Amino acid sequence: MLMQVLVFRVCISRTFPLSCDKSEVAKGMKLYDTAQGKPIEVAPLDGAKYRFYCCGPTVYGPAHIGNFRTFVLQDVLRRTLEISGLETYHVRNLTDVDDKTIKGAIAAGKPLKEFTADWTAKFHADCEALNCLPPHVEPSAVEHIPHQIAMIEDLIEKGHAYAGQDGSVYFKISSYSEYGKLSKLDTRELDLGKTQNTRVNNADEYDKDSLSDFVLWKARKEEDGEHYWESPWGQGRPGWHLECSAMIKEYLGDTFDLHGGGVDLVFPHHENEIAQSKCACGGDFAKHWFHVTHLLVDGGKMSKSLGDFYTLADLEEKGYTAAEVRYVLLGAHYRKPLNFTLDSLHAAREALGKLSRAMYDFTEEYGDQEDVTEAELKGLEDFGLFQEAWNVLQFDLNTQAAIGKVFAQLKRLRGLNAEEARVSWRGLQAVLRSLGVEVPVYEATPEVEVPSEVQELANQRQEAKAAQDWAKADAIRDELRVLGWEIEDSHSGAVVKEIN
Ligand code: AMP
Ligand code: ZN
Repeated sequence: MLMQVLVFRVCISRTFPLSCDKSEVAKGMKLYDTAQGKPIEVAPLDGAKYRFYCCGPTVYGPAHIGNFRTFVLQDVLRRTLEISGLETYHVRNLTDVDDKTIKGAIAAGKPLKEFTADWTAKFHADCEALNCLPPHVEPSAVEHIPHQIAMIEDLIEKGHAYAGQDGSVYFKISSYSEYGKLSKLDTRELDLGKTQNTRVNNADEYDKDSLSDFVLWKARKEEDGEHYWESPWGQGRPGWHLECSAMIKEYLGDTFDLHGGGVDLVFPHHENEIAQSKCACGGDFAKHWFHVTHLLVDGGKMSKSLGDFYTLADLEEKGYTAAEVRYVLLGAHYRKPLNFTLDSLHAAREALGKLSRAMYDFTEEYGDQEDVTEAELKGLEDFGLFQEAWNVLQFDLNTQAAIGKVFAQLKRLRGLNAEEARVSWRGLQAVLRSLGVEVPVYEATPEVEVPSEVQELANQRQEAKAAQDWAKADAIRDELRVLGWEIEDSHSGAVVKEIN
């Protein structure tokens, strides 16, 4: 039987009971707090604006998609808060001076500023491609050297820091009794009594099990070349942990809503930030700690230093898009490890295609829907069919479950009236925008009318084939080609297509 090439239309039966049990509607967002070890309510300290800080990238090379798991999840958090009606104030730093950036600049034969500016630009381009909103403020360590020096002076004056014999300045962890609370040091069998004051650590990053007085100011070393600043303790540069404390003080004050980063930062980086900030400023520092579990590759940590990583550019070279990468990064709850594979990108492509098709079908069935802006979605109360997807996002940012619920509901799009369709469409938009998922536009095959002359020839070819007159069948095929039509045989019959 001859088939025409037609636009796909989905036949939707009208049996759908719209269920949006209002009792399921989440009241405010809950998010797991590393410090308290349980999900807690997310509420801005000042009742209006949620002010949060995220440790940013070290700009000495391309960020890998493991780094972007953390940055994308922070972006989802921000988007979800904004859609829920809150204002946000998002501060994320740039680490543009530390052991690695200096080593990299020297190896590249470039001034540090130029070297880090190049990698910062690359980072920004990747963020944009991955649909991550830029932070409201993005301070850099190099631009805040005086702030860091002032904080060290404060810490020395208050008895929490001392100049070592090597000309560096160290934070004295025995001076802060709460050191280790965030990372539960006391349960990690590290003996504070034995190690305090017996060890100092001059490295920006050090081992998880090395408990030591950490460096606040690093005395100039030969390998630093020209990368040093003057200070009351001589030439040198700030230690890595200090920059976040100094910039937080500058942009968020002594107490703010939330602090985030990858799980590797809990100890020692965040522990050290808390010690520095609480001892220097006296406030509560972060009210909430949000940590994203690592992205794995082949079951191991994706890490720059191990050289075992993919960048966005690597994956784009293989033909995948940034939207597909983002989709993969949303595919597991942020507190669970996510193992990255190229197959998962393939699955993301299929899923986005299905989503695109389902949204097209929605408009086919219920008519074109309004183009809703971000502002119009802010504070949305009724998500229609997508209420549960919103609820799971509101409960500890379960992106994986939210995506699952979106798909489950898309399968059930039946029998909505115009108002129900409008509400659900807005609900869907709100969930997708919170996830930052940009759905490709579905390209429907345009309806093509097959001229009767072409159809007649195609029928004759079928008859020739049925009579096993292959020469005649081939001749008709050639004739059709001359007329600009191709005939394709398939299990379900022959299809004629216009040759483009
Ligand atoms: P860095 O540029 O190394 O300072 O890291 C930037 C951010 O990425 C930090 O919040 C890290 O904790 C986070 N990060 C590093 N590796 C991974 C990974 N494999 N998965 C998720 N986050 C990571
Ligand atoms: Zn930090």
